Amino acid sequence: GRNARDILKNELREVLAKGTASSAGPRSDAIANRPDFGSLEVYYQTVHRAEGGYSASGAEALVRWRHSQRGLLTPASFIPVAEEGGLIDALGFWVLREACRAACKWPDDTFVAVNVSPAQLRRPNFAEEVFAVLEESGLPPSRLELELTESSLIEDNSDVYSVLKSLRSRGIQISLDDFGTGFSCLSHLMRFDIDRIKIDRSFVSLLGTKANGAAIIGAIVALSRNLGISTTAEGVETEYQRDFLAALGCTDLQGYFFSKPVPLRELDCFREPESAAGSLTIAPDAVA
Ligand code: C2E
Ligand code: MG
Ligand code: MG
Ligand code: MG
Repeated sequence: GRNARDILKNELREVLAKGTASSAGPRSDAIANRPDFGSLEVYYQTVHRAEGGYSASGAEALVRWRHSQRGLLTPASFIPVAEEGGLIDALGFWVLREACRAACKWPDDTFVAVNVSPAQLRRPNFAEEVFAVLEESGLPPSRLELELTESSLIEDNSDVYSVLKSLRSRGIQISLDDFGTGFSCLSHLMRFDIDRIKIDRSFVSLLGTKANGAAIIGAIVALSRNLGISTTAEGVETEYQRDFLAALGCTDLQGYFFSKPVPLRELDCFREPESAAGSLTIAPDAVA
């Protein structure tokens, strides 16, 4: 109900006030003494190339709230609250900053994808704010992918168009999330230059059950290819789906079959190999 949402909103405001100010310097007593409702964390789910052995091409940042009393909350339970309560900008930029800092340490040919709410995109200087985060973190713009939903574009105002244009002019990648669940229409893809489409997992889950899942995905992939747009299939849970989607020509695959979203410390695939010294290095004169 209304009341429960208001409570959650106020708690989230506290978390953001504490957490996002953190590394900037010593906390004022006023902040330190505020009630503790836990903290936000960014989880990462890898995305894999559909060709050449399914190596990881990047990872998507997915926010979690480790609540001190309610446990680990998924975004569905608090993103709408943040949007409604005017907190989505603070939350979104905190996630963006964390994600860019993390990705700096991954291989050069990988990307980090960050979800963007429609409300964030409506800010006239959203692009400049994103550039500032990139500069501060040192992440090359081409390694950042921003995931928008169709509803961001539906609003069809020219501000959103110019923000996207500005982002792309610096080399930031734009992808369309949950594709197929909204009012997809070709004109969107033509008007807004999009780099990637993420095929919603509701289509992927039809594979192997109903014939039209394959037909729909095949059509999306064919269309995207002709427009020079990459395609990521979301929600890949089985080997059968992986093989089928790769055969259909999706460029990338994402889902529990490869990995669930994990905390940064458990994201092993982008870690530089531990120094081999000591264990594997054999001194030349030791080899008889
Ligand atoms: P999304 O961007 O479409 O992210 C994919 C969601 O599908 C994630 O849920 C992920 O955990 C889940 N998923 C991935 N692979 C599979 C699979 O194989 N099977 C199933 N059943 N699910 C899978 P999550 O993490 O709960 O996030 C839900 C949504 O919340 C996201 O959907 C995104 O729209 C939103 N979200 C997450 N983080 C942020 C954020 O930092 N900012 C904003 N604005 N929205 C966010
Ligand atoms: Mg997404
Ligand atoms: Mg999605
Ligand atoms: Mg989805």
